[in-house]
Amino acid sequence: MSKHEGCGYKQRFIPIRGNTVEKKQVQVIEWREQILPGLIHPELAALLKDLFEKKGIRIALGVSLAELGEKEGRLSNGEKIGMDLAIAAVGIRTNLEVVKETSIAVREGILVNERMETNLPGIHACGDVAEYRDFFTGESRLNPNLVSAAEQGRCVAEHLLGKGNPHPGLISINTFHSFGLNLLSAGRFMPEPGDRVLEEKDQGEMAYKRMVFKDDKLKGVVFLNASADGGIYYRLVRERVPLGGLEEKLLKDPFLRGKWIAEKTFKDKNSKSESRNPKQ
Ligand SMILES: Cc1cc2nc3c(=O)[nH]c(=O)nc-3n(C[C@H](O)[C@H](O)[C@H](O)COP(=O)(O)OP(=O)(O)OC[C@H]3O[C@@H](n4cnc5c(N)ncnc54)[C@H](O)[C@@H]3O)c2cc1C
Repeated sequence: MSKHEGCGYKQRFIPIRGNTVEKKQVQVIEWREQILPGLIHPELAALLKDLFEKKGIRIALGVSLAELGEKEGRLSNGEKIGMDLAIAAVGIRTNLEVVKETSIAVREGILVNERMETNLPGIHACGDVAEYRDFFTGESRLNPNLVSAAEQGRCVAEHLLGKGNPHPGLISINTFHSFGLNLLSAGRFMPEPGDRVLEEKDQGEMAYKRMVFKDDKLKGVVFLNASADGGIYYRLVRERVPLGGLEEKLLKDPFLRGKWIAEKTFKDKNSKSESRNPKQ
């Protein structure tokens, strides 16, 4: 359970200025130094910023809203902007009201173990409200998305039935559709020392693919306007599937090659049809 709400005017703030409904000037205010900070790396964010600006959107980075009046706001750098409408889109804050009068341990969310069980035996929490460890870093955090909520729900159900594996940790996955752009990002898209990054760009088509590997195991992907099944890539990361030299081929054809690897690897598996080994 969670309550989605603005958390003050700190992070992203979108005032809209204009005289008619048809023609509005949109300005995005972002306190970080890039747009879409949780979704993509800075280089791609710079490319998308250019694109959005060409579409007429103004974007201010590294600033926040210091003051908000009825028709005017003041930014942290002193700049004043007029507005007709202001929209705060600054993330989520969990609603912990339901456990307020209890001894259930909380931080940003309700703290759970690898079975999604709280510190009180027999009481579980999952989804947006649950806080658990990150798959890569082990740090405790929230992971407010549908994929994670469903996965955590399944983990509790399996636990209650006395089967299933412990939850391996939270992995981010996000999609974004805007101005004809289809973006998917999953796992760790910023490499760490020892990681290998494979990338392919087609600036003309505004298409981009990035895969980050540790040895032959996928850690994260970013796909912009590239065909790929996000669920497969999420599982390749989550199950640390050894790709055994197929990494370049996977980058070349993330859709067909990904499907082929998934069919060979995930025995349970959702897709019944056999796909051909892509010829590349
Ligand atoms: C605008 C928006 C867009 C989103 N887009 C995406 C997206 O594209 N992809 C994605 O993966 N995720 C997206 N999310 C996030 C996604 O919706 C959540 O991660 C997901 O719904 C979490 O599931 P949940 O079951 O934890 O919580 P919820 O879906 O919030 O369900 C919690 C339920 O508990 C109820 N409840 C609350 N308190 C109590 C109480 N005390 N007693 C009984 N019932 C209670 C609530 O009414 C609600 O029905 C989006 C969220 C928002 C708000």
